[in-house]
Amino acid sequence: MSVNVEAYHRIKEELAAGHVQLVAVSKTKPEADIRELYELGQRDFGENYVQELVEKEPVLPKDIRWHCIGHLQSNKVKYIAPFVHLVHGVDSWKLLKEIGRQGDKCNRVIDCLLQVHIAREETKFGMSEEELGEVMEKLPSLGNVRVRGMMGMASFTVDESRVKEEFSFLKKLYDRFAEHPSVNPDWNILSMGMSADYQLAIFEGSTMVRVGSLLFGARE
Ligand SMILES: *Cc1c(COP(=O)(O)O)cnc(C)c1O
Repeated sequence: MSVNVEAYHRIKEELAAGHVQLVAVSKTKPEADIRELYELGQRDFGENYVQELVEKEPVLPKDIRWHCIGHLQSNKVKYIAPFVHLVHGVDSWKLLKEIGRQGDKCNRVIDCLLQVHIAREETKFGMSEEELGEVMEKLPSLGNVRVRGMMGMASFTVDESRVKEEFSFLKKLYDRFAEHPSVNPDWNILSMGMSADYQLAIFEGSTMVRVGSLLFGARE
């Protein structure tokens, strides 16, 4: 078994004080690993690839809350719409609209987070502050989708001050948009922090961390 049970308990303890939620990122990991963590009480699991999500969901316990954390293409929303718990990586108005449309079709409200580009790296997905403002203006016209907050990924660097700065920037945006007239009362999720930087993220105000390799070991 490759789940790091000790790390799981340690992280859970670290998160408990601030009521921060843990999403266990199980991408590329086998069902057996997910079951092992499930047996310890973990219910929130995150996957990046739609294909993997739709393969794992039917064969694992029904009370698992599946988080789609990766880059999501509009044409794939329909595959996860019936069961997904939270879509973290909404980076365009087009995608948000499609999620609302699929929510209508499945007759359920789909929760999601707006992904903001906070890293200085080009490779990370997410909206700019300006795009975010535009999306917020249009929110009331949406279908069965509820925007619960924001998500961001910091730069992949050992420079802690830079990572902190990026998280702090996201937290400020999150707080600012919480006051926006289009925002619903359920705006209460700030998803930031991964294995390498979740402690910094919590310090900067994260309410939900997405941790993979610390729990499941390194990926191929
Ligand atoms: C893979 C991934 C994670 C988890 O990364 P670790 O470094 O293994 O903790 C978190 N968030 C996103 C968006 C990811 O793609």
